[in-house]
Amino acid sequence: MTIAANIHQVQEHIASACARAGRDPRDVTLLAVSKTHPPAVILEAAAHLQHFGENRVEEAVTKIPAVMQQTDQPLVWHMVGHIQSRKARDVVALFSVVHSLDSVKLADRLSRLAVERDKTLDVLLEVNVSGEDAKYGFNGVNWSGDPAVREPLEQAVAHIAALPGLRLRGLMTMAPIVSDMEQTRPVFAALAGLRDALRQSLGLDLPDLSMGMTDDYPVAIEEGATIVRVGRAIFGARRTL
Ligand SMILES: *Cc1c(COP(=O)(O)O)cnc(C)c1O
Repeated sequence: MTIAANIHQVQEHIASACARAGRDPRDVTLLAVSKTHPPAVILEAAAHLQHFGENRVEEAVTKIPAVMQQTDQPLVWHMVGHIQSRKARDVVALFSVVHSLDSVKLADRLSRLAVERDKTLDVLLEVNVSGEDAKYGFNGVNWSGDPAVREPLEQAVAHIAALPGLRLRGLMTMAPIVSDMEQTRPVFAALAGLRDALRQSLGLDLPDLSMGMTDDYPVAIEEGATIVRVGRAIFGARRTL
């Protein structure tokens, strides 16, 4: 299959999931996660898509400028991987959206650097709601039953929402790897529920839910995803760098 055909197929699956959930497909952004793939392959996808995601700053630092030099399209770059403090400056320079905001300290740093650059960075708080397979993210396990989980999250969200240079768009999560995609549903539902609760208690908008990857994006859409982060279904297997 060509990349164009892969993208078409993913878009069809997105449309079916939206139909099942009574949602408008225009409310779901397909983010093509292009990590490990070279500029030529990304440019092929850029004929059909506008949003691209990378997970390593070291890789993005050379790749994003190389891609942008070869296209007139206004591509939007999303950072989806863990960010080390010393890489924050590169992140602010290269990306428009950060999905992997996983500490208040990182938020403070990104805020300061964004203000310095006179830029507004869209950010999503990465939350671990499953308790499995997640190395990073704010703890959101059992947020509805445990005030000791919910209160620090509320404090972090309130703090980040008030920072200059950042626009807090919502929440992101990674579902654990499972054999049956149906098993991810409670994880996505928990993230959507948390977003609704934060919206209510803090009076924030939080329009975005970044959830769902190649193995589970249809379920994520049924549970309210507004951004799905898809790599392998578009580009095929990851390359070794
Ligand atoms: C790699 C990656 C994806 C895409 O994963 P696929 O399974 O290839 O669709 C999505 N989100 C994050 C954070 C990733 O690192």
